[in-house]
Parts: sequence; structure tokens; C-alpha cells
Amino acid sequence: MNFLSTIVTFENLHEVRRLCHWGPIIALSVIAICSTMAIIDSIIWYWPLDTTGGSINFIMLINWTVLILYNYFNAMFVGPGYIPLGWKPENQQEAQYLQYCRVCQGHKAPRSHHCRKCNRCVMKMDHHCPWINNCCGHLNHAYFTSFLLLAPLGCSHAAIIFIMTMYTQLYERISFGWSTVKIDMSAVRQFQPLMPFSVPAFAATLFALGLALGTTIAVGMLFFIQMKVVLRNKTSIESWIEEKAKDRIQHYQTEEEFIFPYDLSSRWQNFKQVFTWSGTPIGDGIVWPVHPKCHQHTLTIEQLKQKADKRVRSVQYQVVEDYNGACCPVNKGIQTFFRTPCTEEPRIPLSKGDVILATRGTKWWMYGDKVLHDDKLRGRKIAFPVLNDRLGLFFFFSETQHGTFVVLQLENLFILHSQRS
Ligand SMILES: [Zn+2]
Ligand SMILES: [Zn+2]
Repeated sequence: MNFLSTIVTFENLHEVRRLCHWGPIIALSVIAICSTMAIIDSIIWYWPLDTTGGSINFIMLINWTVLILYNYFNAMFVGPGYIPLGWKPENQQEAQYLQYCRVCQGHKAPRSHHCRKCNRCVMKMDHHCPWINNCCGHLNHAYFTSFLLLAPLGCSHAAIIFIMTMYTQLYERISFGWSTVKIDMSAVRQFQPLMPFSVPAFAATLFALGLALGTTIAVGMLFFIQMKVVLRNKTSIESWIEEKAKDRIQHYQTEEEFIFPYDLSSRWQNFKQVFTWSGTPIGDGIVWPVHPKCHQHTLTIEQLKQKADKRVRSVQYQVVEDYNGACCPVNKGIQTFFRTPCTEEPRIPLSKGDVILATRGTKWWMYGDKVLHDDKLRGRKIAFPVLNDRLGLFFFFSETQHGTFVVLQLENLFILHSQRS
């Protein structure tokens, strides 16, 4: 166990339940199938172990598997780092610049966001990754990005083994112009496989090849996206906040200049924030080094402005038809069914008469907040309707009249919640 704990951090052992989810089950199955098949192919059909090349090939395969699993499990179990429950800034004055999370009963530190799936405020949250069934954030960013690099490398190696195995077996280990490549293939040609390369072996190798190539392409693309995040020191959520900041400044013509505070204006500096020799990123996940023209609350103040602006710009509607909260409602029309937003988040059921505030939308679906009535909040000191923390989507509305937000004909109305809190 001591030996293992040096490989994988078992501090969060109770988090083993994170494995019980389709993401880790599929991801670990792909890793298991590709590595097992590559090892079996190498031993039985492709390259004898008693040659130097064969041994190096074999050690490399084991090496990829260990490194991939090491980074994968660390990304999952070390986790992104959570803001302590009930957290508040040391200096009480600073609380006014921060958003409050009602779920965690504390203030949201700069760069943190509340994740609905983790049910905690996550340090430097990038996104919730279903494949590790955890958030990608401050503490596991390096592990996560390393995994995204190693998985395609390991899969490419495995894919080469699969192709070579099928090639050498199907063509009876014919020489195919290897003279330009300085690898001695004579051992391979003389090598008699331990077992005949049967149809099931061919099918299994072909299947593993498909998985390996698919993983190489898909995960490789994710690696480039994540490297961009690391080198700019700007998470996907922060890119979106920056977009909205530019939009807000342009809309109100406020002449403000928005500088993204966490980009240390050197890719190498940004890289070193995340990747360290110890594996632990620089910083406590609460206080961040910032651009000289910015301060600790540049981004959080911008977030508060956006939140206020969203309330101002929202439009009120009343629900005219019940909706049961189905993801792809079949009884609300074919367009609604097929144009359901690509998100895993569940929708909020609506009843006729509910009031919602729309903040943005498309032709078929729209985002908004559902207004909760005070009778639903009995026992709390709130006497007037408040917004709940749900971002909604609803469907198919017609014109509003004279800005009074009366909906003339609202056929269907669906609401989705968000990760906001
Ligand atoms: Zn929270
Ligand atoms: Zn999460």
C-alpha cells in the first residue's frame, strides 16, 4: 500500500465511488482493451520477446499503460480542489466583490465556480469531465492535461502494433521494403507465432485498432484545447466570461478596458503555474498572480456586473402549458425533439402559470430563470418572489406586446437548469 500510495494519491479514497459512472467505465475499458490487445499481439503474433527491439517495444507498452493510468487516477482522485464550505475572504471588505454560493454557504473565491455534479465550488474550474467523473480544475489540471497527451501517444503505439500484427500475419510476414528503416526484421520473419492468427484474433485486433485510432483523434483534439487553456492561463469558463465582458462593454459603450487578469503574458510563465516537478500546481487556489494592471477582484467584479446586466436584460414570460422536464420531449413537436440542446443537464418541469425570466435564446429553445413564488419558500425570510438558481431553456414563443412581456401564444415551455448558483 505504501508503494501504491507513492504512485496514486489515496488521500481521497472515499472518492472511489467516482468509478461507478459510465465515463470511467468506458474510459478504463478502452485503456484495458487497447493495452491488453497490444501486449497479447506483441507476445503471441507480432514480435518475439527475445530480440532487443521486441523487448523495448514491450517495455514501452507497459510504460504507456502505467503512465496513462497514473495520470488518469490522479486526475480523478486528487480532484480539482474545492473551496472550503462556508469560505469567506480574510478581509471582510472584499466580500462585496465576490459572488455568494448558497449551496456551499460561502463566498466564491476568484476563479472558482460551483459545479452541480460535484456539488461544491471548484477551484479554477474549467469543466466537469464525465470521463474522469470529476471536475478539471486547479489541482488536477496538470494530471488531466498529461493524460490527454499520453493517451493518444500510447494509442498510436498500440495502433502501430495492431496494424503490423495484422499485416505480418495476413501476408505471412513478407518483407515490405524495410531496408530504408533501420530495424532488423529478420527475427520477426523467422518467428513462429505461439498460436495461429485465427479469425477471432484478427477481429479482436481490428476492434482494438478502431478504439485506438478513435481515442488518438478524439483525445488528441482535447489535448490541444487543454494546452491552449494552460498556455493562456484562461479556463473555458473564463473565455466565456471574457466574451461576455467585451459584449457588455460594447453594448453600454462604457469605454472600459477589460484586461484578462490571470494571463501572465508569457506562455512559459503560464505553463509553469500548472506544471511543476512536484505535481502540485503553484498557488493555494484562492489567491492568484495577476497582470500588473489588474487586481485580485478584476474578474469577480466583472462577473457581478454581468450578473446584474443579465437581470436587466431579461424578459418575463408566463408558462401556458405544462412540461414534465423530459430531455427530448416527444409530445412537443418534432423540432423540439430533434433540436434539444446538447447538454447532460436535466430540465426543470414547469406548470401552467409559472413565471420565467428569459435571458437569451434561439428559435426553438431559450435560456432563462424560473421565478419561485414565496409559498415555495415558506420558513425562509423571503417575502417576495425570488429567482431560483436555474438557467432555463424554453421553446416557441411569439411576440410580446408593448414591452409588457405578455406572451400571446406560448405553445410549449421547457426549462433547463445551469451550473450557476
Ligand atoms: Zn458552491
Ligand atoms: Zn464537477
